[in-house]
Amino acid sequence: MSWKSILSGRVCVFTLAIAVVLSHVPGHLAWGATKVLGLRHWSAPTCTRVVVDLSGEAEFSTSCSSRPPQVTVGLKKSTMEGRDRVFRIQDTLVSQVRLSLDPPNGVRLTLELKREGLTHHAFLLPRVDDRPVRLVIDVENPTLGQQVQEERRTIQRDKGGESRVVVIDPGHGGEDPGAIGPRGTMEKDVVLSIARVLRRRLGQIPGIRAFLTRDGDYFLELRQRVRIAKEYGADLFVSLHADASPNPGTRGASVYCLSLKGATDEAARILAERENASDLVGGVRLGGDQDLSTILLDMVQTQTINDSLRCGGIVLRELGNVQGIKFPAPRQAGFRVLKAPDVPSILVEVGFMSNPEEEALLRSAAFQERIAHSLERAAVLFLGQPGPEPPPREAHVDGPKPKQRTHVVRRGENLAHIAGLYNTSVGEIRKANQMKDLSHIQPGQRIVIP
Ligand SMILES: [Zn+2]
Repeated sequence: MSWKSILSGRVCVFTLAIAVVLSHVPGHLAWGATKVLGLRHWSAPTCTRVVVDLSGEAEFSTSCSSRPPQVTVGLKKSTMEGRDRVFRIQDTLVSQVRLSLDPPNGVRLTLELKREGLTHHAFLLPRVDDRPVRLVIDVENPTLGQQVQEERRTIQRDKGGESRVVVIDPGHGGEDPGAIGPRGTMEKDVVLSIARVLRRRLGQIPGIRAFLTRDGDYFLELRQRVRIAKEYGADLFVSLHADASPNPGTRGASVYCLSLKGATDEAARILAERENASDLVGGVRLGGDQDLSTILLDMVQTQTINDSLRCGGIVLRELGNVQGIKFPAPRQAGFRVLKAPDVPSILVEVGFMSNPEEEALLRSAAFQERIAHSLERAAVLFLGQPGPEPPPREAHVDGPKPKQRTHVVRRGENLAHIAGLYNTSVGEIRKANQMKDLSHIQPGQRIVIP
C-alpha cells in the first residue's frame, strides 16, 4: 500500500498545469497536442500489457489484422520526440511494439503479435498519484485464459474431503509497485518473494495445496484476485502487503478482515481506501464483473468473516514470534480483495516499508523465510492439520476394531452433504459420532464416517 497514492493525487494537477504554461513548445508540436512520454510493458501468463505515458488525454482508435497478426493504435493530435522506436517484448503473445510518427498530426503504435486469435483492449487511465495519463493496451489469449480457469476448477473438483487449498495473493504488481521504501524496495517484489516461500512451505504439508494469484511482476485487478480464490475453491485466502506511513518510525505487522458495515476505526478505513486504490494505479478497464458487494449473501458472509477473524487472530499470534505487532487483534474495513463471500480471507501487512529498519528486514531472504514460516504455521492451525489418517486405536479385547474413516468438516458443509459424499445417512453419522439431534458441526471438526 502507498500513502503517497492518496496524498499526491491533487497536488500534481497544479504542478502539471504550471509546467504546461511555462514550458517551451517545440515548433513541430502544435499547441494542445498530446506528447508520448514513455512506454512500459508487463507480461502475465495470458495477457501482455503495454502502457504508454501521455502528457494529457488523447483520442485514439484501434484496428487489427491477421496477416501479419498485429494491433495498431492511432493516437490523434499527438506527437513524440525523436525517431521511431522499437520496444522488444518477446513474451508468449507479443514480439515487439513500434512507436512511430503518423503525419500529419498523430502517433502510431504497432503491436506485432506472436500468433492469430488474440484479443485486445485499449483504454485510458486518468492521472493518479504522480503518474501521467496512461494509454493501456492489453493483448490477451482468451483460449489460454479459459484453460487456466478450467485447471483451477479441476483442482477444486478433485480436492476431496480432507485436503485444503490456500490461495496466496501477493499484492500490487506491474504498474502498481505498492509502497516504496527509502532504499527503493518495492512492496510488490517483497510480497511476491514471501508468497513464493509460503507456497513452497505449505505445498510440503500433506493434504494442503497452495497457489498464487500472480507469480510474476504484473498487475491483477482486485476482482480477479477474488475470482481466482473462488475458482480454486480456496479454504483460505491470504493477501500479502507491506505498509507505509509518513512517519518513518512507524513499524510492525497488522492483519485485516472484511467489514460489511463500515470500518472498526478510521485508520483501518483509510488503509482499505489506499489498498482499494490499487486498481486506479495498476489499471482497470471498465465493465466485466459486478463488484461482489452487490451479490454478497449476508449469512454466508457473516460466517466467513467470523472464520476470517479467527484466522487473523491465529496469524497475529504466530507472526508475533518473528515480528513486532502493531495492533493485537485483526481490524476490519471494506477491503475489496477480501470479498469472496465463502472464502475466509485475510490481508496481512507484514511490516512497514517506510521504516528503514523494517525495509532492510523485508529485503532479507532470512526474514522473508521467517515471516512465511509463521504464516504457514498459522494456516495449518486454522485449517486443522489435514495430514494422513490417524492410526487405528489399540485392538480391543473383544476383537480388532476396523479402521475408521473420518472427514474434516469444511465451511458450508452440513451433515446431509457429508452423508451424500460417503453414501451414508445423517442418522448413521450422528450415531457414529454420538451427536445429539440438534448439535451442529463446526468447520475443522473431524467426524467419524460409519
Ligand atoms: Zn499494499
